[in-house]
Amino acid sequence: MSTFESLGLSEPLLRALAAENYTQPTPIQTRAIPALLNGRDLLGIAQTGTGKTAAFGLPLLQKLSQDRVRPAPKSCRALILAPTRELAVQIDQSLKTYGRHLGLRQAVILGGVNQNKQVNAMRNGVDILVATPGRLLDLVKQGHVRLNQAHQLILDEADRMFDMGFIKDVRKIVALLPKDRQSMLFSATMPREIVELIGEVLYQYERVEVSPPTVTADRIEQRVIPVEQRKKRALLTHLLADPALSRVIVFTRTKHVANRVAEHLEKAGVVSDAIHGNKSQNARQRALDGFKAGKVRVLVATDIAARGVDVENVSHVINFELPNDAESYVHRIGRTARAGAEGIAISFCDPSEKTFLRDIERLVKRQLPVVPHDLPAEALQPVNIHEERRNYKPEGRNYKQPRHRWNPRGPRRKAA
Ligand code: AMP
Repeated sequence: MSTFESLGLSEPLLRALAAENYTQPTPIQTRAIPALLNGRDLLGIAQTGTGKTAAFGLPLLQKLSQDRVRPAPKSCRALILAPTRELAVQIDQSLKTYGRHLGLRQAVILGGVNQNKQVNAMRNGVDILVATPGRLLDLVKQGHVRLNQAHQLILDEADRMFDMGFIKDVRKIVALLPKDRQSMLFSATMPREIVELIGEVLYQYERVEVSPPTVTADRIEQRVIPVEQRKKRALLTHLLADPALSRVIVFTRTKHVANRVAEHLEKAGVVSDAIHGNKSQNARQRALDGFKAGKVRVLVATDIAARGVDVENVSHVINFELPNDAESYVHRIGRTARAGAEGIAISFCDPSEKTFLRDIERLVKRQLPVVPHDLPAEALQPVNIHEERRNYKPEGRNYKQPRHRWNPRGPRRKAA
């Protein structure tokens, strides 16, 4: 069996890994680290939870520290692109942890926050830059960042970058990098567009594929509770009365529902917070930190915001709404059962979501057990939607109250 030492990693890295209690490399690490140390390009077909960050991060740190070159002003020696801000921050943190005895300089560039700090961080150049594509391109255009010295390139979660519409930006960025570089591309799935991108980015690459989604799902106990949409919130608070649900991520399809669920939990006295694309980067990071520290018991999240959220010991994932694409389901439930642990995933399924459920079952190649909830019908108070709509205030500073109040009896009809 291989060890981190036998993979050829240097002593300062081994020390940092020992401090993190990483005793054994994961399969993707075992295969990717030697290839990358040898200078090969890499295609990693893997999702989060497989240890892919360390798989590319460790050889990257080792090479940068062995080959000490002073980065030029505004430049980076390695560029890592990630689709979401959360994932970018997380990669940056992981690399700082693994590289803490190496003294390399790192910076993060992401949207949604003021750019000044990022511009300052790049002024003297850095060894490693982790960035989301949009803001990076923006700063390149403004002349604050140069990419012609980035001889190492990592595209993480390339399929998500495509889903989120970043592929054009990614192509523009890659075109600015030197041709003589080492490149790595990670993707959980292989849609046609990603196959094309591979041809443009990688050269004579090593291909490593680990645990297709179904394998990850094997460690997770999954069940489905049929429940009408309007009764879901009552069911959620009922389930949360059980202290076994100690650290829970609740997924919704939209930001709006995420907010409403979080508000509902707050009223019910459950400490919770929501993360989604409408929240500022700082608010999202705060929510995430609170959840990681155990101060927030329930994190309500949309799919995109939850990408890259890596929190240990998540006891339960609750799909308040089923996702409309089956792969998101696998990503969602993968938030529990991180790094070999076991977890429970509960999905609420309204009759209108049955087709989503069928797609999911086809992907995970099994029928998910349906368990009726054990609540008496009267305990599941349907939410009074009239009251809801009257109190509904969308987020945003510029929102004006509509002039006409919503009339629960329907529009007034003119007399004939
Ligand atoms: P990733 O797939 O990079 O998001 O990593 C998933 C989680 O596994 C992270 O929390 C890592 O800290 C953890 N991890 C990565 N490699 C190892 C390892 N060899 N041993 C134990 N934990 C690991």
